[in-house]
Amino acid sequence: MQTHLAPFAQALPEAAEAEAILRKCVHCGFCTATCPTYQLLGDELDGPRGRIYQIKMVLEGAPATRTIQHHLDRCLTCRSCETTCPSGVTYHRLLDIGRAVVDAQVPRPKGEAWVRKALAWGLTNRPLFTAALRVGQAVRPLLPKTLAQQVPPKEAPGPWPVRDHPRRMWVVTGCVQPALKPGINAATARLFDALGITLTPAPDAGCCGAVEHHLGENEKALARARRHIDWWWPKLHSGEIEGVVVTASGCGAHVRDYAALLAHDPAYAEKARFVVERVWDPSEVVARFEADLLARLGSVPPGSRGVVAFHAPCTLQHGLKVRGVVERLLTQAGWVVPPVRDAHLCCGSAGTYSLLQREISAALKANKLEALAETRGQVIATANIGCLVHLQSGTALPVKHWVELLAEALPSAA
Ligand code: SF4
Ligand code: SF4
Repeated sequence: MQTHLAPFAQALPEAAEAEAILRKCVHCGFCTATCPTYQLLGDELDGPRGRIYQIKMVLEGAPATRTIQHHLDRCLTCRSCETTCPSGVTYHRLLDIGRAVVDAQVPRPKGEAWVRKALAWGLTNRPLFTAALRVGQAVRPLLPKTLAQQVPPKEAPGPWPVRDHPRRMWVVTGCVQPALKPGINAATARLFDALGITLTPAPDAGCCGAVEHHLGENEKALARARRHIDWWWPKLHSGEIEGVVVTASGCGAHVRDYAALLAHDPAYAEKARFVVERVWDPSEVVARFEADLLARLGSVPPGSRGVVAFHAPCTLQHGLKVRGVVERLLTQAGWVVPPVRDAHLCCGSAGTYSLLQREISAALKANKLEALAETRGQVIATANIGCLVHLQSGTALPVKHWVELLAEALPSAA
């Protein structure tokens, strides 16, 4: 697509990147067919091609409007369009650039701005979030059913292994996951221990920045990225730590973007690239040790462990581009993992989307739960805390992280 960036856009550090992305788009519209918001709303402006056009118009000098902001806000950043695109358009980077430009031109109404600030502050403030969650859990039995479903019950983390192995990795603590599901990282540590890897919590630098990034607080999000790199780089560079594992695929996909986000920061660009190559989703590590895993689990008849409905988060399949790996690991380990209809579509969680775009989010959740129910799974497994809590609020089936299933199946766990 021909582009003529306006002088203000040419002055942006990301000008060349935006122009390259825009020029790659050939306007074919294949992406529209796999966009969840286009499927639900049927409006070209709520599909990837339409959003690319709106961002192009603004970067070429048309004034940004509240309507454009609205259509960009309704994007889930699920990146399903990127998986579909035959031209390799990195849509999410263009969206990042476009959202920042539009938000700078179009002030949000006071109430909306306040809600976004409160979410950015509250969700990334672990003591505050934990205290609020504990209050909700204490009064949960008194809440109406629909409200109680939004509050996950308190759970114990389970034991953390103490054995020391030559292979050492860190696991990111994050912001909301330790309060909501403290068992996920502990289960990952037990699973890795069985594979001969010592997994310990990374120095606690708080939220990875994904929450603030999605809410347009870009400078704060970048500061968090730099802080994590400052903590991780020395031990990764010395080889003391082999890699950093992120058990929430939403956070993992954001951390993998550190290199792109800091590409124009001379002090961090190179370090970010180095770190990003050593940041892994647990499935990427476990897949490397698949034979060891199966040996540790012991031989069981195929399918004898039951049926799992696996929801592949968008951040796993479209963001990290990990596709079919978890399904294969669970199948090899003895579960039946049926294909899920429309598995490429988002469940509607998408970071803070479920709080800011409630109607679209609820419709996507209902569709996803219906598709998962068709598998007749006895348990739903996923790979991201946001999807887990979001789906759990709409079903009586247990929803777990897939590492919890494997950790529970280890003979030592029995
Ligand atoms: S990221 Fe998802 S919601 Fe946004 S345009 Fe692409 S497919 Fe549609
Ligand atoms: S599929 Fe790719 S090239 Fe085609 S319209 Fe969508 S983003 Fe552009």
